Amino acid sequence: MGRRRSYLEELNPAQLEAVRTLFGPVLVIAGAGSGKTRTLVYRVARLVEEGVPPERILLLTFTRKAAREMLRRASLLLGRSCERVSGGTFHSLSHQMLREYGRLIGFSPNFTVLDRGDAEDAINLLRSSLGLSEKGRRFPKKDTLAALFSKAVNQGRTLAKILEREYPHFFEYLPEIERLFLEYQRYKREHQLMDYDDLLLHWHRVLLEHSEVRAEISRRFEFIMVDEYQDTNWLQAEIVRLMAEGHGNVMVVGDDSQSIYAFRGANFRNILEFPRLFPGTRIIKLEENYRSTQPILDLANAVIERAREKYTKCLFTRRPGGQKPIRYRARDESDQSRFVAERILELREEGVPLSEIAVLFRAAFHSFDLELELARQDLPFVKYGGLKLIEAAHIKDVVAHLKILLNPFDFLSWHRVLLLLEGVGPRTAEKIITHLRASSDPLRALSSVPARPSYEKGLRRLTQTLEALRRISSVEERLEELIEYYRPLLERIYHDDYPKRERDLESLLSLAHRYQDLSEFLADLALEPPESAVADLEPETEKEDHIVLSTIHSAKGLEWHTVFVISLCEGRFPSAYAVASEEELEEERRLFYVAVTRAREGLYLCHPVTGYLPGEGRVILKPSRFLEELPSELWEEWREIPAEEAREEAASAGFRPGDLVWHPQFGEGEVREVLPAEKIRIYFLGHGEKTLHLKFARLERL
Ligand code: ATP
Ligand code: MG
Repeated sequence: MGRRRSYLEELNPAQLEAVRTLFGPVLVIAGAGSGKTRTLVYRVARLVEEGVPPERILLLTFTRKAAREMLRRASLLLGRSCERVSGGTFHSLSHQMLREYGRLIGFSPNFTVLDRGDAEDAINLLRSSLGLSEKGRRFPKKDTLAALFSKAVNQGRTLAKILEREYPHFFEYLPEIERLFLEYQRYKREHQLMDYDDLLLHWHRVLLEHSEVRAEISRRFEFIMVDEYQDTNWLQAEIVRLMAEGHGNVMVVGDDSQSIYAFRGANFRNILEFPRLFPGTRIIKLEENYRSTQPILDLANAVIERAREKYTKCLFTRRPGGQKPIRYRARDESDQSRFVAERILELREEGVPLSEIAVLFRAAFHSFDLELELARQDLPFVKYGGLKLIEAAHIKDVVAHLKILLNPFDFLSWHRVLLLLEGVGPRTAEKIITHLRASSDPLRALSSVPARPSYEKGLRRLTQTLEALRRISSVEERLEELIEYYRPLLERIYHDDYPKRERDLESLLSLAHRYQDLSEFLADLALEPPESAVADLEPETEKEDHIVLSTIHSAKGLEWHTVFVISLCEGRFPSAYAVASEEELEEERRLFYVAVTRAREGLYLCHPVTGYLPGEGRVILKPSRFLEELPSELWEEWREIPAEEAREEAASAGFRPGDLVWHPQFGEGEVREVLPAEKIRIYFLGHGEKTLHLKFARLERL
């Protein structure tokens, strides 16, 4: 009794209501930092305490790491393990369920999961075999096609609709694209393959077509909870609806203002439709923010104020005081990096642990310069988002062998594996595959492939290795053996940088060590969706105190003491691709809202005023419109008082037309003409041309 009181007291009345409502549909819709995730954690604890067997609770989150973390916290509250609670992502859940129920729609439990790269390869293969890739045609490329197919599935729209709206220039190819799509579906089915979208699609189909499965699932998961519901799509909403058909005990939490995955088919309107999907929904709003200080919240509110469509309201906090967000106009990117590193060193001096500091950016490559600077300063960091271990070519090579062991009919993987052999080109690989296809046991058939002397040795080695691997059961030992085989190939194919790649293989091995089951290992490798939070499978680095560098997409749901948002310039954030469409621009704005609401105490908004463009040299970068729109009383400018001598030098130094300069009042500009009597004519962004006196103008060279 004592314990129950103590933890429920850590909630406000609205949160408590959500935690106490155990039955029926509940929607918690609330702004950033209002305790939505916390409410879910407490509710898990509460359910377990009420005697619900943990495995009857299903917690769906955006990454598996987030689920693990939430369950860890629930266990701490209860003083009792919540590990047996089923936690994961929609994709990992669907994968698990399809391994159990996939046979109902013709899939063996050993089906292969295609990641996005694999899917593109398959599409490419089919595109050629249908004769759609003749030179000279403007037929869409494989990544465009994959994106197109994925959008159709995730948005529940026809290909024609998507083409019409987003790729009108390809509309003339509609019949061919439809044919390719059907062919792709057929191919995957024939070879027991599923891409990410299929995981959702097929699980949905099982649920839809089999009422007995629905009934079983409703009994199995009596309580379903979903975090970050604003980033789900119609298919995920339908999956939840069908799984909960027997009881309707579903609680979802989310914030429409933080919806940032439209490019993957998510739709923030989904959250607003929840009550329609679940009649009788109890709607709970949380308005108090526990995360950030008022000045940070004021700025966040101002950002989202300008959004066209929004449901959640302004946030307030009871936390007193706080430092206004700081804007830093950096001369260029390396000045931005220097600034961030200096502030981080100061924060560390003040006792802020590095793990309480994050640097956020729109695109993974925006942090390259900073990464070098942090390394120079010996400041440890980890990076989330961007290319992951599993996406590297050499890791894919190794994984392809394992996939074959699991599903010998995965001819895409065969293709990759064969091409690694010396003397085997695409045509030979196809010939070998034709031979394998004709057999009911492709692995065995490999030994009877008629081989030319040029690649015979390689092929025999491969055959022996796969046969040996077949006899080993431990995942780790298999991988060890495989790496032994692969090492000489690696050294030949990637001779430029193979030592670094070898280290990656070791990381892979250290991951494998946690698994008993090969299929689980492969699924986990494939299943972390692209751009998801936190490289879930990267080797543990948690012990060390390190800074987080992250794309904003991957920072969802997290918080830090101090947050730096960098590269806030037009073309980078909002991204150049987004500015043409009102809808995408709105999404970028929500992304900025997500970024600023990650900060608890300190928020720095940084933007370099010049940058290098390939072919154009040094150019002026305009500050992001999201910054320019903010009322200036909501932030403070960071000023580094230039040393007197530096200023004098600047004033006397001979400026020349074309020089880039910075003026305390007008900001960045370009020298147009040097005039007599120490005067100078400068063009300032947003202010036009000004004629200034060099002695008083306090110009700085950029
Ligand atoms: P986001 O929208 O960013 O995902 P959220 O709504 O999920 O945010 P949480 O992460 O759950 O918010 O909570 C934000 C912070 O506020 C956390 O540090 C959490 O522990 C704290 N918090 C939430 N509710 C309370 C409360 N009632 N009392 C004290 N602290 C709270
Ligand atoms: Mg949250």
